[in-house]
Amino acid sequence: MALILNGADASVAIRTAMAGEVANFDAQGYRAPHLVAILVGTDGGSMTYVGAKKKACDDIGFTGTVLHFEADITEEFLLNEINRINQDPSIDGLIVQLPLPKHISEEKVTEAILPEKDVDGFHDINMGRLAKGSDGVKPATPYGITLLLKHYGIDIAGKHAVVLGRSNIVGRPMSMLLSAAADYGNATVTLCHSRTQNLKDYTLQADILVVALGKPGFVTADMVKPGAVVVDVGTTRVDDATKKAGWKLMGDVDYAAVEPVASAITPVPKGVGPMTITGLMMNTLVVYKKSVEAGKIAKKSPA
Ligand code: NAP
Repeated sequence: MALILNGADASVAIRTAMAGEVANFDAQGYRAPHLVAILVGTDGGSMTYVGAKKKACDDIGFTGTVLHFEADITEEFLLNEINRINQDPSIDGLIVQLPLPKHISEEKVTEAILPEKDVDGFHDINMGRLAKGSDGVKPATPYGITLLLKHYGIDIAGKHAVVLGRSNIVGRPMSMLLSAAADYGNATVTLCHSRTQNLKDYTLQADILVVALGKPGFVTADMVKPGAVVVDVGTTRVDDATKKAGWKLMGDVDYAAVEPVASAITPVPKGVGPMTITGLMMNTLVVYKKSVEAGKIAKKSPA
């Protein structure tokens, strides 16, 4: 039986520890870390994700602010809002929930966020810092995955990690984090994509297999080396008449078939999903702590 890498349980433990740190800062007279989430429009998935992020802020003791705008706001309006938040010293982290309405450039919006407040870690400067191995904000999903593996004591140094998918938000930064010359890194990494030939030859060599494709059930048992650690990032809504919503979330791994082969595996849901939010929260705490250390956050004056 594989060890279940439960992102919900790990998140509770990691967020509880973070709440302890926040309480310590409060006891020293500092304001709470402050995360702002911008939501544009009424996409159901986006509203759920932003709601979960707000709840995580409340649970940890952060100030969580949601700015919810109509879908027909102009790009200029949104960029002005981002600029206002960039300059507001009472706000530590800013995320803009994607996707955005078609008339707003996601690229422009992502690049408008001050890199130091970009707690999703999507800004070119943060991606560049990750590529160079210098100190920056790490992309939330891959960072959350490393927090999950670390939480369960999975050793990654010197292991062969194979990452399926090369997107800028998951696969590519995941490959950079796993291979980083860092305390928790030093894996040997192979990055695969839709043009990879003989994919199974690579997946069968993986000590750690991270799958981020968006193709439900793509990874089957015959593609997995016995004893591998399998991380399933995929979350695709598939029809399911037995569910109240009429759909369920499916991962990229055929869980029932792969679990007996793997030594450890993430479920979907309750695997990587909660860890993405935990990565985001950790990023917010990290940027906040840097500001405290740099003397940018003054202690509250006594009431
Ligand atoms: P994406 O931008 O669509 O990228 C998918 C990647 O998969 C691409 O690099 C693509 O290759 C590769 N690919 C597609 N078919 C392939 C095949 N047959 N063989 C090998 N590679 C193939 O997706 P994403 O944004 O990374 O997201 C991937 C999945 O993770 C989605 O289900 C998404 O919903 C989920 N996700 C979950 C979380 C979470 O918090 N749980 C966060 C982010 C994403 P090319 O580059 O060659 O096209």
